[in-house]
Amino acid sequence: MAKMRAVPIAAPGAALEIVEREIPDPGPGSVRIKVQACGICHSDSLTKDGTMPGLQYPRVPGHEVVGVIDAVGPDVAGWKPGQRVGVGWHGGSCGYCDNCRRGDFFACQTVTRITGITYDGGYAEYLVAWAGALARVPDELSAADAAPLMCAGVTTFNALRNSGARPGDLVAVLGVGGLGHLGVQFAVKMGFRTVAIARGADKEPLSRQLGAFHYIDSRASDPAAELARMGGAKVILATVTNGDAMTAVLGGLGINGTMLILGAAGPISVSPLQLLMGKRDVKGWYSGTSIDSQDTLAFSVLTGVRSMNEVFPLERVGEAYDRMLSGKARFRAVLTMDGA
Ligand SMILES: [Zn+2]
Ligand SMILES: [Zn+2]
Repeated sequence: MAKMRAVPIAAPGAALEIVEREIPDPGPGSVRIKVQACGICHSDSLTKDGTMPGLQYPRVPGHEVVGVIDAVGPDVAGWKPGQRVGVGWHGGSCGYCDNCRRGDFFACQTVTRITGITYDGGYAEYLVAWAGALARVPDELSAADAAPLMCAGVTTFNALRNSGARPGDLVAVLGVGGLGHLGVQFAVKMGFRTVAIARGADKEPLSRQLGAFHYIDSRASDPAAELARMGGAKVILATVTNGDAMTAVLGGLGINGTMLILGAAGPISVSPLQLLMGKRDVKGWYSGTSIDSQDTLAFSVLTGVRSMNEVFPLERVGEAYDRMLSGKARFRAVLTMDGA
């Protein structure tokens, strides 16, 4: 049997170690992907630390996968070896549960296919993925460029394009990190008056370079008051993982404004009066399905949006993961495979 290198987590909290494994064969409805790159996302800690209920070990993490189809299983239509594809968090849907039949595939109730959670992900030279979860990757994007767009990219792009904001509207991106640096770029390219908000002055030059027309240092001034002075935001894209930071900008929403929450944070506090007087709302956003990822990649090619990455070969997976966890990566850590 041919072997590959992979990084299965043996048990909750176990170290990231490269092991040799048999290369898996694709079953019905699935393809095998020769991985070129896999982004490291903070959600990979669910697998690493065992904080996702029901997770079975060993499990290979990684849901920002880009590679080339190298084998196609039975009962797969529309895909063939040699095509470049990506797989994100959403590894597919059952098609028969109530949510799937209403078209809400993202909320599939059988939850059988989350990449790197319910089946093995992209910290490996090969993985097997359900054909319905594949996004086409354009030639213009390198594997390392495309990988972070499969989670961080699609999450911010899809949230913004469904946010209700229209060209010219004031849109604030709270947090200029792994998600936020993409959120700022997408918001600018979608034609929004884009404001970046972060703690401290050091993110200002980058925010302006990414196209934000205004920057708010939330340590130096009250971000809610500043947004209100500019007329109030139609959308605040909350990418931080800090509930207090979200609470602090809520007052900057304009009439009919929406705070879209992407960051998994602690509780936020909301004044009902603030919501009802201005018909404001606070809602969450799920990243997207395979076609949303494909749209994200195509839009990024069209407009030049790129993730800023620190790239590591698979051998340095431990170092790359720690870098992500430290919050110091500028801005996404990406693993690349030999020959990719
Ligand atoms: Zn992710
Ligand atoms: Zn379903």
